[in-house]
Amino acid sequence: MREGIPSYLAQLIIAQYGEETAERIAQGFECRRKTTLRANRIKNDAAGVLSALEAAGIAAQRVSWSEDAFILENAHEDAVTPLSIYENGEIYMQSLSSMIPPIVLDPKAEENILDMAAAPGGKTTQIAALTGNRAQITACERHAARAERMKYNLQKQGATRVSVMNIDARQLDDMFRFDRVLLDAPCSGSGTLQLREGSRARFTKEYLDKTVKTQEALLVKALSLLRPGCEMVYSTCSILERENEEIVRRAMKKTGAQLVPIEAQAFPGVPLLPVTLPGTMCVCPDETYEGFFVAKLRRVR
Ligand code: SAM
Repeated sequence: MREGIPSYLAQLIIAQYGEETAERIAQGFECRRKTTLRANRIKNDAAGVLSALEAAGIAAQRVSWSEDAFILENAHEDAVTPLSIYENGEIYMQSLSSMIPPIVLDPKAEENILDMAAAPGGKTTQIAALTGNRAQITACERHAARAERMKYNLQKQGATRVSVMNIDARQLDDMFRFDRVLLDAPCSGSGTLQLREGSRARFTKEYLDKTVKTQEALLVKALSLLRPGCEMVYSTCSILERENEEIVRRAMKKTGAQLVPIEAQAFPGVPLLPVTLPGTMCVCPDETYEGFFVAKLRRVR
């Protein structure tokens, strides 16, 4: 396919999408992706962030589907990190695609929400911001160092109603029940390749087989922790059906959960890939977006 794309990944992409779409994906992997960020409305609003960026000579474009998202036109992260809006946690450096799952989750104030694989906390802090810091969030993370990093980010962003649990989410107590769950699952990262930045996805059959098992176990667990009738979001930064639609299909079969179709019109301008499970959403990597998959599910019984 292209130099730098692991051959096993290239084979999977071509088999899944065909040559033409695989070429489009490869072009996305070759782009230098634009820097994007989210205004943290716990600490500042979009207008305040925009004027701080402008004052620093940074031009930023708004995004039609999110009041809080910005695409930088003439700068990258290194121009933003010295600014006080970054230092004070008034912004969070976040890819546009990764802002989609919390919006699809549609969290509400006073709800009891589980972010099941949460570090470094980009989506946890976004959920906190979307609910005006008024949801009770449990942020679970298996790796101790990443959980510590998340605590730092939560504090910096002013997300005050978050309890961090440093535990394998598969071991969460079955007595817990949540109003909403976000499972932003550990994945191969196949959507995030940036060949110019020298990024490499880990791609062997063995690695993928192991990852897929963890994803399915986490999704079945997530559904068991939801209150019946409530909804959750499953997301990955992979574009592979094996980590996405196949996991969702198997978890629905095991648990009886229903798919809640995502309205793609709510995200105008987002480049999409074909999906094999209608109602789910797969973002195509390009110069603005990284590859990402999002599905919404409802626990029925
Ligand atoms: N949601 C995060 C964000 O937006 O900042 C990114 C999450 S990243 C895709 C997946 C995270 O899951 C990693 O931090 C990884 O260490 C963690 N993880 C992997 N296996 C886990 C498990 N079994 N239980 C809990 N966390 C796990």
